[in-house]
Amino acid sequence: MNGSGPGPLIVGCDSMFLFDGECYGKPHDEATARERLRRMRGRSGELWTGHCIIDFATGRAIQDASRAIVYFGEYTDEDIDRYIATGEPLEVAGSFTLEGFGGAFIDRIDGDPHGVIGISLPLLRRLVSKLGMRWTDLWNVEPHAPNPEEQDKHPDSVLPPLENVHQPGDGWVSCACGRRHWGTHGAAGILLARRNADGEVTHVAMQHRAQWSAEGGTWGIPGGAIADNETPIEGALRESFEEANITPQDIEVVGSYREDHGPWAYTTVFAFEKPGHEVRLRANDDESMEIAWVPVGEVPNRKLLTAMRTDWQRFADRLHGLAAANRAR
Ligand SMILES: [Zn+2]
Repeated sequence: MNGSGPGPLIVGCDSMFLFDGECYGKPHDEATARERLRRMRGRSGELWTGHCIIDFATGRAIQDASRAIVYFGEYTDEDIDRYIATGEPLEVAGSFTLEGFGGAFIDRIDGDPHGVIGISLPLLRRLVSKLGMRWTDLWNVEPHAPNPEEQDKHPDSVLPPLENVHQPGDGWVSCACGRRHWGTHGAAGILLARRNADGEVTHVAMQHRAQWSAEGGTWGIPGGAIADNETPIEGALRESFEEANITPQDIEVVGSYREDHGPWAYTTVFAFEKPGHEVRLRANDDESMEIAWVPVGEVPNRKLLTAMRTDWQRFADRLHGLAAANRAR
């Protein structure tokens, strides 16, 4: 079922203009703006715009700067006076803007033009991917919205089968993080690990998600919406049995991690296959192309669900830690 997607992000940016070896912030007063605009006339300088993203779900912060060389045209002293009279140059880095009155005095820009206006979208996209998220997952658009009427017309298209409709708890939640998540009571899934005779984690049970589902074709863990009157662990156990034939009598629950967004949360339940038992994974419904034991070292090489890609390293560390604690017992 649907995962949590990227957590809430906070983005900040600020600019400085480098000219003649000096760093120009906002001029604040008319005299400073006039003096700078005279010096910049017919010449060029570098605008640097620093960006910082904080991922609230993990606390990670990442930063980088966008750079553009700005070439000014020849303008008159009268142009400068009239420009200052608009008030526009006083509270902007370097005493000019591209998107306002000042744009008429800028002949050309080399480099990243976005940073001259404000936030640089291509730079943000690169930063977000370093945080393990996909830029397009941040777009506030519904992924693969099922449309039963369309499905009747195109039975072979990648849409959910008609009987896959509603049970209590199914439904989208508009979340505080600006995205929509699946499960009116939240969602939960099982990260089930298999261990070798020495008690070390060797494999995890993963779900290759059906094309019609959110982020179709990626790998995640079996799970889904929590039903009425269910705890997250009960929901995870029920969903993983329904989806993946993870039989509760063959596993032990060893921990959980709750990613809480306020109106919605995703609970990842950590579990081990019991010694001497065997969970026979099977794709029990049409939400999976495949359910498989994936060697633990191979997981990062799979095309992962965004939420799983974000959390995998932490989850893997936790599984190995839980296995070690079990061995020491
Ligand atoms: Zn959210």
